[in-house]
Amino acid sequence: MDRRRLVPRTDAVLADPRLVEAGGRLGRPVVKEAVTRAQERARRGEIGPEEVADAAVAALPAHAASLRPVVNATGVLVHTNLGRAPLSAAAVEAMAAASGPADVEFDLATGRRARRGRGALEALAGAVPAAEDVHVVNNNAAALVLVATALAAGREIVISRGELVEIGDGFRIPDLLTSTGARLREVGTTNRTSARDYAEAVGPQTGFVLKVHPSNFRIEGFTGSAAVPELTGLGVPVVVDIGSGLCAREPMLPAEPDATTMIEAGADLVTASGDKLLGGPQAGLLLGRRDLVERCRRHPLARALRVGKLTLAALEATLRGPVPPVRQALHADQAGLVERAAAVAGRLAEAGVDARGVPSEAAVGGGGAPGVTLPSAAVSLPDRFAVPLRGGDPPVVGRIESGRLLLDLRTVPPERDVDVVGAVLSAAGVRG
Ligand SMILES: *Cc1c(COP(=O)(O)O)cnc(C)c1O
Repeated sequence: MDRRRLVPRTDAVLADPRLVEAGGRLGRPVVKEAVTRAQERARRGEIGPEEVADAAVAALPAHAASLRPVVNATGVLVHTNLGRAPLSAAAVEAMAAASGPADVEFDLATGRRARRGRGALEALAGAVPAAEDVHVVNNNAAALVLVATALAAGREIVISRGELVEIGDGFRIPDLLTSTGARLREVGTTNRTSARDYAEAVGPQTGFVLKVHPSNFRIEGFTGSAAVPELTGLGVPVVVDIGSGLCAREPMLPAEPDATTMIEAGADLVTASGDKLLGGPQAGLLLGRRDLVERCRRHPLARALRVGKLTLAALEATLRGPVPPVRQALHADQAGLVERAAAVAGRLAEAGVDARGVPSEAAVGGGGAPGVTLPSAAVSLPDRFAVPLRGGDPPVVGRIESGRLLLDLRTVPPERDVDVVGAVLSAAGVRG
């Protein structure tokens, strides 16, 4: 008997009420694809012909987009490959509220056009009162491109050789800057650059002096760099790329620059990311002198770098709302983490899993504070759990250390511990 002839026809399977409903939610092509794959499995004899509809339903994705939410148990707070800062519930709600028609550029009182994103801009200005004006673009790279184009195209940017940084995935700040038509005037050496080096290089060709925070590496030993106050008297703007997006000093990370301190120290413009230690959506922040921000905002390129209403909504809610997850993770105390790790490991051990709570060291990540470790606690498991946990639902991503898989709880919100337990039990083949 040819089993293939028993495989139900596509339209018959698609008539299953569960798949009709899914078609309305996910779109017909997604559902059809799941049906086709289930029919192929039946043809190969992996499932019976009567199981095709069930298999298609089981294979449906949860959402119409392929991005899957994961549990970040890596201990890296700002994990670029996992989408950097997780948004707060307040930011998620604000994005949902803005997802339909919204007054992003419209004044409901007068019925006229209004300043785009004024709520987010006011929130940012409120978070950094030292800044005369602020602007928001797509990301920090875009902020740098805009500043370089508006203030230095065809002219020179004076920058230390110790600050020619590669930010990741092969992207280099010097290349980004010269792509705008600005020239780099490199000063000093890899390990030492003095205020005099800058002073000797500044001239009529200078657009601005740029300081870039070495946010993803550290050099130690015989080093020296010029601080912002030493560069303010040169008669050209001083722009500081702080990277992480801290608005004010963070006592946990004393070496990490923040926008307020830099502006008070004399920086004319500060650029930063929205999705690192600020804990918000991907965005580029520009803060500082009113005339310089205005030149950036009015440059034609600004239109190509502007952010959408969803970003504006999430940014405003991050700035005005409750403490976002990245900062909660940063401030979680180790004793609490140790307790949680012991509790999770205890529940797993009861089910026969080789699990124990261990001390661990978390990190801020590529987003800032290189070399800083945050005392943490993890659930230690045999490393063979790594693959099934990544393949689970939700996927749980940990890190391997000395042949063990560590699930670091500093980056896991406490209410997700129950999901971690469930995921490990399911990976172990134990019913939770
Ligand atoms: C992360 C970082 C950037 C790049 O920021 P994006 O928001 O990813 O474009 C630039 N400069 C510094 C110092 C950084 O830390």
